[in-house]
Amino acid sequence: MRHLVMSHYPDFPALWYFKTFSTLATTLLQLTNKTPFNFMNSISAVVQKKVDAFMQHITAKNPGESEFHQAVKEVAETVMPYIEMHPHYEKAKILERIAEPERVVMFRVPWMNDKGDFEINRGFRVQMNSAIGPYKGGLRFHPTVYLGILKFLAFEQVFKNSLTTLPMGGGKGGSDFDPKGKTDNEVMRFCQSFMTELYRHIGADCDVPAGDIGVGGREVGFLFGQFKRLSGEFTGVLTGKGIQFGGSLIRPEATGYGCVYLTQEMLKTRGDGMKGKNVVISGSGNVAQYAAEKCMHLGAKVLTFSDSDGYIYDKDGIDQGKLEFIMELKNEKRGRIKEYADKYKCEFVAGKTPWGVKCEVALPCATQNELDGKDAKLLVKNGLIAVAEGANMPSTPEAVDEFIHNKILFAPGKASNAGGVAVSGLEMSQNSLRLTWSREEVDQRLLGIMSSIHSTCVKYGTTDGFTNYVIGANIGGFVKVADAMLAQGLV
Ligand code: NAP
Repeated sequence: MRHLVMSHYPDFPALWYFKTFSTLATTLLQLTNKTPFNFMNSISAVVQKKVDAFMQHITAKNPGESEFHQAVKEVAETVMPYIEMHPHYEKAKILERIAEPERVVMFRVPWMNDKGDFEINRGFRVQMNSAIGPYKGGLRFHPTVYLGILKFLAFEQVFKNSLTTLPMGGGKGGSDFDPKGKTDNEVMRFCQSFMTELYRHIGADCDVPAGDIGVGGREVGFLFGQFKRLSGEFTGVLTGKGIQFGGSLIRPEATGYGCVYLTQEMLKTRGDGMKGKNVVISGSGNVAQYAAEKCMHLGAKVLTFSDSDGYIYDKDGIDQGKLEFIMELKNEKRGRIKEYADKYKCEFVAGKTPWGVKCEVALPCATQNELDGKDAKLLVKNGLIAVAEGANMPSTPEAVDEFIHNKILFAPGKASNAGGVAVSGLEMSQNSLRLTWSREEVDQRLLGIMSSIHSTCVKYGTTDGFTNYVIGANIGGFVKVADAMLAQGLV
């Protein structure tokens, strides 16, 4: 038990005794009151009270933004005990400041469809925190986009970017525009209109957007073209660009590959590896595709893919040829995953997620809150060993508790999907240097960054031989940003 808490609070022994006593007391209370024991939140009553007060403040100040509340709460619960041990952070109100965006821009995006009708969407950029570098984070085009989603993503991005060890602040943006079913010309007109407003708020040393759901190479190309036209500059203002105009090799692969590199690191701590593992993947977009490819490279068997219509289950496993079919289907033809089942005569389950399929490794790579407590229970019952989130916050809080309570190797998105933004950071470096690194060099750097993220999680999250990667990633990401904020004064 001493090791359990001491590893989180190595430099404050006196406070450790206080903390240990109150943690034990809380645990005892929880047990005697027969309240459900929450493994992740075994924090003292004093700290819990502070978390509750903080969350009351956050929910009152950001009404109706449930995803943002969820993301902030997870961080507050894991970081508040650390802040208790380091009161200078509390005095400077670092947590309150981190949860308040430095700036939010919201704007009208008018454009014309192919029939000549006017269409109006809403655009956003949330510039969350620039303590350790320019704002950095993707753009999401999806009909569910509203301020609360982008604030949750921007908030997560601050910690994720800090974990990469690269000098990048956190931001996120996007629109409620739905690229599905739109022609290339419609997407281009939308992107041009979107950038016509956004361009005045971004820049290579100020804010560098990239892709996310609904924003891939095609959209980044159109956005970059319009930025260049308006500003008269060719700079590294967006990442995820085409190779011909400043993009980095391995950027398309980076999030998926990085997610599997981190899974491999987690498995290594138990003397295990990806070879021979059955893997269930959700989504069939950028992250899912390259996570699947890396699983195959490492000798694992990928069984599923999904989209918002349902999932396919291929008992024989998805090989490179079948993956190429999916890439063409999704990235060029912009079709539905069901077409895979029609072609390869396998099962398609409409309207469901794939978490009932038996596997040892699960990689949720579609969207937020796509894996709930019931799904997690089923996965654990079916022999799950590891989960790494390719998507941002795909597991609900109940699912995360279930994984951690059962000592599953569980990597939160902040750690496991940081490979994408890490290679975006490398793209920024290459653009500044006006150099292009080879595929092997970028891949090696990505591997090194994922391994360093893993070490940070182990350093801050290990107790009694078990690593809670949620605690590790949150505290590890927090410390660097918090110290930079302290050093820069009240700004
Ligand atoms: P993408 O290429 O647009 O693919 C998204 C996939 O998720 C599609 O298969 C999509 O299916 C599915 N999906 C989206 N919304 C859904 C919903 N509400 N319900 C069910 N399925 C849904 O996007 P991506 O870049 O792979 O991003 C996937 C996740 O990874 C997101 O959470 C994103 O924030 C995160 N992420 C991405 C990167 C990156 O570098 N791209 C980096 C870090 C994290 P439909 O086609 O049917 O919508």
